[in-house]
Amino acid sequence: MLGRAAHASGLHRQPPDRQLKELLREIDPHRIGATVTRLAAFGTRHTLSSQDDPERGIGAARDWIYEQLRRHAAASGGRMTVELQSFIQPPGPRIPTPTRITNIVATLRGDGEPGRVYVVTGHYDSRATDVLDATSDAPGADDDASGVAVVMELARVMATRRTEATLVFAAVAGEEQGLFGSDHLAQQYKDAGVDVQAMFSNDIVGTGDAHDGTVADPRTVRLFVEGVPTSETPAQTATRQSVGGENDGPSRQLGRFVQDVAENPQTGMKVRVIWRRDRYLRGSDHISFLLRGYPAARLTEPRENFAHEHQNVRVENGVQYGDLVEFCDFYYIARVARVNAAALWSLAQAPGTPKGVIIDTTRLTNDTTLRWQPSTSADLASYEVVWRETTAADWQHVLPVGNVTAVTIDLSKDNVFFGVRAVDRDGHRSPVAAPTPG
Ligand SMILES: [Zn+2]
Repeated sequence: MLGRAAHASGLHRQPPDRQLKELLREIDPHRIGATVTRLAAFGTRHTLSSQDDPERGIGAARDWIYEQLRRHAAASGGRMTVELQSFIQPPGPRIPTPTRITNIVATLRGDGEPGRVYVVTGHYDSRATDVLDATSDAPGADDDASGVAVVMELARVMATRRTEATLVFAAVAGEEQGLFGSDHLAQQYKDAGVDVQAMFSNDIVGTGDAHDGTVADPRTVRLFVEGVPTSETPAQTATRQSVGGENDGPSRQLGRFVQDVAENPQTGMKVRVIWRRDRYLRGSDHISFLLRGYPAARLTEPRENFAHEHQNVRVENGVQYGDLVEFCDFYYIARVARVNAAALWSLAQAPGTPKGVIIDTTRLTNDTTLRWQPSTSADLASYEVVWRETTAADWQHVLPVGNVTAVTIDLSKDNVFFGVRAVDRDGHRSPVAAPTPG
């Protein structure tokens, strides 16, 4: 088909559908507060701490999270299953002896396309000043009981609902020792050929107030998304060097999608997208997924107080150090959970990201031909082509092109960036896929 650029319109945010609005209202700051408080009360959740003490250490935390998630799964009519995923991590710089690491993984099987998967994680291990100190108190309220509380609350509210794609809610361990739990989880998916279309790490999402004298920013969450893919191959590098695209990797498209569906009055949040893989000197579990070519992002609070992270609990010169519950804002964590819920629900209900999108470069022309594989989504309605100036941050124009798998547009591919997204019968839009030359 032929698409005329003059028929394009500007882009609008995707508003939440009725079910999503209901779901967002069910997210409960009091439950989140109870989860953060309970997790901090295990004393330490260090990966090398006791695995069989019923009260203190990572084993007690593991068993408690598992029980809670199983309770949520009981309301799912058999669609949510909860698994303890254990493996032995061999010794390394931060693991002195072979150590059993266990992820708790709740999987809500999709009704329509169960093979299409979206993953959200928080890490339930914690640490003190010395990364090998497995005995000192390490309450880890913000880092990262807050992220685990988000994951558990999402599992609770989603368990009673039907989604088209599969959602995975995982509390991972070994993060502070080297991202080991998420590395194992991502590798399991890679080995099984699972189509993970997005992953979010919630890590340090406890408060919008850094408690350092600066103005609080309780309605902002940062979303870190890489540009050039960590998994880029030399051939992909050559293409990028030739025609650009360093701002069009799949994680950048995911960042645009999250702003599209999660910045609204119902979440009450601004998603501050940061065009970096992570902060200076830091990392999180999304990197395990990026390494394997899965689109992934990290959510974190707007400004951190480094006296409250990775620090022994103590008072020094009148300053309270340590990652304590009292510095968390449960209403803030609930709003971050709503941002996650809006993203995951919208991803799961929309068609998957278009695959095999090609921009035709067989000859030199002043128009643009795009082709893609047909969607496997049962309620697919049509596709949209989007584009923007090469210097623009986000998509500027959208052209509905119907239920086709090829279109020629009277615009030069040399002058703008193009993308394709799928639309279902309810108007849910997929993330955008950027084309590769072919
Ligand atoms: Zn962390």
